[in-house]
Amino acid sequence: MLPIDDTTPQLIQHLFERQAPTALALRESTAKQRIHKLRRLRDALLQRREAWMAAFETDLRKPPLEVDLTELLPVADEARHAISHLARWMRPRRVAATLTTLGTTARVLCQPRGRCLIIGPWNYPVNTLLGPLVSAIAAGNTVILKPSEFTPHVNAVVAELIAEVFDPAEIAVVQGGAATAQHLLALPFDHVFFTGSPAVGKIVMAAAAQHLASVTLELGGKSPAIVDETADVERAADLILWGKLTNAGQTCVAPDHVFVHRSVRERFVQRCRETIEARYGASDAAVAASPDLARMITPRHAGRLGALIDDAHARGATVLAGGAHDAAARYVAPTLLGDVPAEARMASEEIFGPVLPIETFDTLDAVIHRVNAAPKPLALYLFSQRKRTAARVIEQTSSGGVCVNHCMQQYAHAGLPFGGVNHSGIGSAHGVFGFKAFSHERAVLAAGRMTLVSLFYPPYTGWKTGLGRRLVQALGWI
Ligand code: NAD
Repeated sequence: MLPIDDTTPQLIQHLFERQAPTALALRESTAKQRIHKLRRLRDALLQRREAWMAAFETDLRKPPLEVDLTELLPVADEARHAISHLARWMRPRRVAATLTTLGTTARVLCQPRGRCLIIGPWNYPVNTLLGPLVSAIAAGNTVILKPSEFTPHVNAVVAELIAEVFDPAEIAVVQGGAATAQHLLALPFDHVFFTGSPAVGKIVMAAAAQHLASVTLELGGKSPAIVDETADVERAADLILWGKLTNAGQTCVAPDHVFVHRSVRERFVQRCRETIEARYGASDAAVAASPDLARMITPRHAGRLGALIDDAHARGATVLAGGAHDAAARYVAPTLLGDVPAEARMASEEIFGPVLPIETFDTLDAVIHRVNAAPKPLALYLFSQRKRTAARVIEQTSSGGVCVNHCMQQYAHAGLPFGGVNHSGIGSAHGVFGFKAFSHERAVLAAGRMTLVSLFYPPYTGWKTGLGRRLVQALGWI
């Protein structure tokens, strides 16, 4: 077996070359064969529950319930969904002949892209690596997985699982940081599936362009939440804080900041304070000791968050709750901030931590204007009882996905595409959309003996020219 932790360019090259014949052979793989692999992957994932819990405790101090619900469940559900639908997804889709292609039969075939690279982030290291892997296997590809260097304990379990279930000539893990990722990106993969920050997404896309490799970019951004005057304010606060504080806010689809209508702002802030107290404890010490709040991934990341809070405070923001941070302990308290000025770093950087800026608004027009003035976010959350308001916000803004009167549920729906738009990402994951991301939709046309084209061979005599002209005109009448 190949060493999977060695990151030298030569070994990476060797692994890549070993996957070439497998990729060709997999073009002929059947739904049954792929489903068998998906079952083995899912079973291996679920059999390692204790190992995952221990690894997540060390890397992120992540509460076990959050490991179950946000890491294992989404991957198992992705596999379950693919297992039930794969035979249908793989079936060639017949397409009726059009007027100008009369006499032909046509179909669309989903074929594997070939050799794929999946690069993952640290915040959901199982979900963001093995979720796309399910789609890549369903579509019949070989894969090299490159997890983030910040989750070494989780990566060790991932690498052991993959080595047990797959031959590295089909699926392998390569560990390392940015330099390793760049060695991988220098190779002519057929598809690169990247989850991470917009800044690194640009580097990945530029590298993929050298080989014209297709890309799926699952990026981040500042996803806003809007709570209008008709909203169920208490429910909105409960759900927004659930989204904000799960995994201590280190979630790509977490609400980044919230716009609250002036008439309900006090109620919203009060409910947020009560919710933090009820979920994590009544005193600063109790919150810091709560086993239900994950830690920042590294002291550096915690330091960044602390600096963002201090910067906003120094520029005039009000601390409405929390505010404590301790970089060495990787701790940031659930924090509510009011009046964060536009020049604060937090107003433009993705927060990615348990800090919620609360902004007051008077008119929906002003909020829509603010959303449209910023890069298109991954998610947009709206809490309102008015259908007209929901329709307006959806029509007049853009984001990867929208969720009305809930939080993060758009991510969990296997039948919906999951992905961003421009700054927040390119392409989609999940279910059939993930399957298509890792497939090439190939057009296959077979002609009968007689097609229109045979009427138009040179020499272009008068009657042929006349027929051509009438054909073009006829298209205008239909
Ligand atoms: P990151 O972009 O720093 O790193 C992601 C991966 O890229 C890692 O494997 C890392 O080793 C690699 N990398 C880092 N620098 C590189 C370089 N110069 N060249 C090539 N590869 C490089 O992201 P992160 O900090 O691990 O994760 C947080 C970000 O990911 C946030 O922006 C978050 O919103 C986003 N995210 C998005 C989703 C989604 O599904 N859209 C999910 C999770 C996280």
